[in-house]
Amino acid sequence: MTAAPAGQPRIPPRIVRPGAFAPAFALAARLSLALLLATAAAAQAAEQGARNPLRTFTPRSLALVQDATRVSETVRRLVDRLAASDLVVLVEVTDERFEYAGRTNFVTCAGGFRYVRIRVSGVMKPWDQIAVLGHELQHAVEVADAPEVAGDPTLAQLMTRIGRATRKLNYETDAAIAVTRQVEAEVRGR
Ligand SMILES: [Zn+2]
Repeated sequence: MTAAPAGQPRIPPRIVRPGAFAPAFALAARLSLALLLATAAAAQAAEQGARNPLRTFTPRSLALVQDATRVSETVRRLVDRLAASDLVVLVEVTDERFEYAGRTNFVTCAGGFRYVRIRVSGVMKPWDQIAVLGHELQHAVEVADAPEVAGDPTLAQLMTRIGRATRKLNYETDAAIAVTRQVEAEVRGR
């Protein structure tokens, strides 16, 4: 389950031909904007004395985080709890086919921080993606509250203690299921 930490996005080289701006140029510009926005959010959080615990590397992932924190009090509360922890949470919306609506994996410990990665399936409707993000952020908080988790074996021990195995190498907690319902209600109530 251990994956390499997500690095910076590979920004395509600028290819400028006479009379034709390559699409790569537009993509690079969008990615630069996303990184700029992420930096602005981090700067704002720093100004308020809080660390920004979430990292996004695509405009789409950033948009999900921004939408979710705007519409959901529960998501904001979870992000605040993560900000006070040693967790860095990489959030990724992906069309890559995987078995779940969302997934949280432990990535690594480095520089005094623990890194987890949340993947949210991009094939769902935006509101469903927000509920799934909330659910996975609750799992991140569960890891944040368990300083002994430093890899897959200790993560499995934690999940066996606070949750239950649903199938091989897959766990669920009642708290995360409750967060899904809460966020769904917040989204519907708008
Ligand atoms: Zn879950």
